[in-house]
Amino acid sequence: MTEPDPTACKHPAGHLVPVIDPNRCEGKSACVAECPYDVFVVARRERADLPGLTMLGTLKWWVHGGVQAEAVRADQCHGCGLCVSACPEGAITLKRA
Ligand code: SF4
Repeated sequence: MTEPDPTACKHPAGHLVPVIDPNRCEGKSACVAECPYDVFVVARRERADLPGLTMLGTLKWWVHGGVQAEAVRADQCHGCGLCVSACPEGAITLKRA
């Protein structure tokens, strides 16, 4: 986890939330390492909990052992964008809460 940098936080907590594309996420944990507010965990996710998976996304999910990121503390997001930049799969976007 990176130490919080107040200058990087553009928004109060809860203004924006990270959205993870399950068809792109490969559970590489860059978001966990970068987020100053511990928004993410990476763990095994059940296929049934990822209803938006395409056929290719399902194949990737299976190949990576079902391990994906989840924004378990999305309400703590400050919108710094570090996770968006860090994700090697381009799986994270920010949207208004
Ligand atoms: S934009 Fe990403 S890295 Fe920054 S606080 Fe929100 S979830 Fe964490």
